Amino acid sequence: MPTTEPVPERVPAPGAARFPVVDPATGEAFDEAPDQQPDELDAVVGRARRAWSVWRADPAARSTALRAAAEAVEAAGEGLARSLTREQGKPLAESYAEVARTAARLRYFAGLAPRTRPIDDGRPVRSEVRWRSLGPVAAIVPWNFPLQLAAAKFAPALAAGNTVVLKPSPFTPLATRMLGSVLASVLPEDVLTVVTGREPLGARLASHPGIRHVTFTGSVPTGRAVARAAADSLARVTLELGGNDAAVLLDDVDVERIADRLFWAAFRNCGQVCMAVKRLYVPARLHADVVEALAQRAKTVTVGPGLDPATELGPVNNAPQLARIQQLTRQALANGARAAAGGHRQDGPGYFFAPTVLVDVPPDSPVVTGEQFGPVLPVLAYRSLDEAVEAANGTGFGLGGSVWGTDLDRAGAVAERLDCGTAWVNHHAELSLAQPFAGVKDSGVGVAGGPWGLYGNLRPFVVHRPPEA
Ligand code: NAD
Repeated sequence: MPTTEPVPERVPAPGAARFPVVDPATGEAFDEAPDQQPDELDAVVGRARRAWSVWRADPAARSTALRAAAEAVEAAGEGLARSLTREQGKPLAESYAEVARTAARLRYFAGLAPRTRPIDDGRPVRSEVRWRSLGPVAAIVPWNFPLQLAAAKFAPALAAGNTVVLKPSPFTPLATRMLGSVLASVLPEDVLTVVTGREPLGARLASHPGIRHVTFTGSVPTGRAVARAAADSLARVTLELGGNDAAVLLDDVDVERIADRLFWAAFRNCGQVCMAVKRLYVPARLHADVVEALAQRAKTVTVGPGLDPATELGPVNNAPQLARIQQLTRQALANGARAAAGGHRQDGPGYFFAPTVLVDVPPDSPVVTGEQFGPVLPVLAYRSLDEAVEAANGTGFGLGGSVWGTDLDRAGAVAERLDCGTAWVNHHAELSLAQPFAGVKDSGVGVAGGPWGLYGNLRPFVVHRPPEA
């Protein structure tokens, strides 16, 4: 984009459009956010491009600024966490954890720098690979972990020397706006800009000619639309998409010992985790024990508003998501499944769905083959391990998977057979900031996390010259 055009006003005009934000614990709107229009993006991206010319030039200043950003996020922790819980629904303790993870991500990437590498291929030349930033990056994120997933995008992008335009989901714009204000107090102007609004804002951001990398987290269909939108400008695309993770229990598993961990791997954040356990494969001999252990937890866990300190599971985030979970569950029950716990919406206001454990589910039910993304877990019995591995690998998704047993070597060998980006033994969805994160099949394109996430926001630049005389 040309950088000489006049830059329009940054502050939205008085009376600019706004859209309501709903508290999922009540189902009522409690606040509003600016409904920014696609035609505002030219100015936003133009500013991001100007800011890039300075931000990219000084790695040491960037590192210092990102460390200050981490501290500012921690200092604002209480306000951010409360805002997050109010609009997202998750228990307050989980929102605090999300804020902490956001700060940790900034600090981690503040300490990373790309390494210049000589090319040594035996020829009498000196060539060196250096790394250059890309330009303005569009970061588009969903509503399940608004802050943490935003930081997973902007922390590496900023550390690499790019500037970022961040668009949260219209279901959860407020904590991200607050985060944007907090970061604006420590980062140079226009290095990170938060835009909020309903579609087609995201589509237009993904296709904006001034954007050089679109880094997107969300569903598979939207991911495909984003890839198509970015095709015209040939911007780089990183897609972190849906998952339908399977957990496979082996016949030597100690059910009581793992039951809590397994339950929370499926139900944390109301199952609205890309890497939640969404299908469970259990040896037929242990099936009844596993179902009983999980159903007992599902029936006794405290479900309520996230701001109530006693709450362990909050509401589902939004009405369309609740409707989808209800529809998938009803369909499974109509096709012969049985609910060992839950199976229905909870009485009262808000988007609460009773934690649900399903048995006798036909394996071709959409609740097994698709991504239910809610507090519902189908538990399927298997007779041979090969059958279980084949079923675990038998969907279009490939984000994560896990294997649970007492003999760790055997469990590890089975985990290696899973066709996914990350496989765990006796855990699920435990992620280090330093590890790569990359789904296979429909679960994603490109690599995030760790140094791979940094290089995903850089381009190689080769300097080739004759050897010294
Ligand atoms: P979504 O795809 O509906 O929306 C994601 C984001 O894209 C939102 O900000 C939305 O406003 C925006 N958007 C919508 N239409 C767009 C378009 N045409 N062009 C550009 N942007 C557009 O997803 P969601 O319902 O918000 O989130 C749930 C999904 O996210 C699940 O599928 C879940 O598995 C996935 N997810 C994946 C990961 C991962 O790392 N792989 C992490 C969390 C969530």
